[in-house]
Amino acid sequence: MRYTRDSKERKRVTLIEGDGIGPEVVGATRRVLEAAGANIAWEVHKAGAEVFKAGLPSGVPPETIASIRETRVALKGPLETPVGFGEKSANVTLRKLFETYANVRPVREMPGVKTPFAGRGIDLLVVRENVEDLYAGIEHMQTPGVAQCLKLMSKKGCERIVRLAFEVAVAEGRRSVHCATKANIMKLTEGLMKRTFEQVAKEYPQIEANHIIIDNCAHQLVRTPEAFEVIVTSNMNGDILSDLTSGLIGGLGFAPGANIGDDVAIFEAVHGSAPKYAGKNVINPTAVLLSATMMLRHLDEFAAAKAVENAIMFTFESGVYTQDVSKTGCVSTSAFADAVIANLGKQSARWKTREHKQLCIRPLDARRDYVRPATRTWVGADIFIESPAAPEELGRRLEALVEGSALRLKMISNRGTKVYPTTGGMTDCVDHWRCRFIRREGAGQLDDATLLGLLGKVGSAYRWMHVEKLEEHDGALAYTRAQGED
Ligand code: NAP
Repeated sequence: MRYTRDSKERKRVTLIEGDGIGPEVVGATRRVLEAAGANIAWEVHKAGAEVFKAGLPSGVPPETIASIRETRVALKGPLETPVGFGEKSANVTLRKLFETYANVRPVREMPGVKTPFAGRGIDLLVVRENVEDLYAGIEHMQTPGVAQCLKLMSKKGCERIVRLAFEVAVAEGRRSVHCATKANIMKLTEGLMKRTFEQVAKEYPQIEANHIIIDNCAHQLVRTPEAFEVIVTSNMNGDILSDLTSGLIGGLGFAPGANIGDDVAIFEAVHGSAPKYAGKNVINPTAVLLSATMMLRHLDEFAAAKAVENAIMFTFESGVYTQDVSKTGCVSTSAFADAVIANLGKQSARWKTREHKQLCIRPLDARRDYVRPATRTWVGADIFIESPAAPEELGRRLEALVEGSALRLKMISNRGTKVYPTTGGMTDCVDHWRCRFIRREGAGQLDDATLLGLLGKVGSAYRWMHVEKLEEHDGALAYTRAQGED
């Protein structure tokens, strides 16, 4: 069930106006959709700043959650998030609550919008993983001076985003998909996405599949953006890349987006609440308008989507634009929406609406066991400790502490670089150390008692804050080596 209907057979949509410029852009969009005759019943609900201020730390009230659970579809304006302190992002909460694991962000050159890239035919999609990665926001101060953020990526998460990217390519008649990762450095997390992409690509032989390293992807996007059709990438990479790609076609005012899951879809622009423009009736509503055309297609309202898209492009072609295009001759947000309404039914000369098939989302079987290695061996442990001591002193002390036990100290690293035994490098250390203990030759199998014994010994001399078991899966290391470790 992609959407639900009310008693009058209208398609139900939860509407969240959002913060800052949200009410202006969402209000303009609602007027345009109503004028286009879209068969929608709006259910208006709150989230974001106002809700935080009312004392709800999640920023998303139960009524809003209940409405989206029912309607399965939401159109939302941007929600403010305090930067560097305070409450969690209500945007991320909404995406995660409804497991909208894919964030699809189209980027297409628009007629009449002058940019340094105009005429190149940019027409691509960034498909960003939307619920995992650093965005899980699992953070800890490991010592008073050292912070940690866990980058969690699952095989299941990689598989469903990669599959969705290929399905989007099929639905839109695209010929190629690039997978952009940092698998050269983060071989297990980003590498998992690369390996999954290579596996899933075999099921889509009609689509050219290319892996590209994310930094090169950013470089190539500025040099030859027209070479890309679909880019699938992890959450943080996709966040940054999609702002970059929006810049190629005129800026964030032109960049729409859809958060898609197996059960729920939430449509919103890439941009935020742009607080400096709030209430000034000057910003560009195109990004939310185009997000709404994505929503219309999701609701099987293909004719209305095409009409709105054509009216927007006709409006640009006839020289009507907001101040982000040019401060000279620009119109207000509401006047731009009025012009789009007046142009409904007109055909843009230079914009050809892409023929869309309905996107096929096949939920992965929840019972499927994704990864079960034939062999799985516990070979050691990384214990993270806090100390102002020098690496040589730490190394000698830890070796003495574990002498005669099942585990030996293999190395110590500082922020990922091996510092003991010394490599001859010149690492500038902080008070946060990873101490790697490996099973001694001839020792029996490791078990919880061994690990607890180790922790007890290390803990008798140092404050420890984090432990990781080291395993081998099917004989291959299930952890990475430190920089400089052999
Ligand atoms: P932002 O709100 O996206 O604004 C950055 C800049 O982008 C604006 O100053 C403006 O550029 C341009 N811009 C954004 N929307 C525009 C539009 N519709 N028309 C024309 N230009 C537009 O990013 P931010 O200032 O970093 O973030 C502000 C707040 O929004 C933060 O609280 C952040 O957490 C939140 N945010 C929310 C979402 C979301 O709800 N999905 C996404 C991103 C950020 P110029 O200054 O050059 O005119």
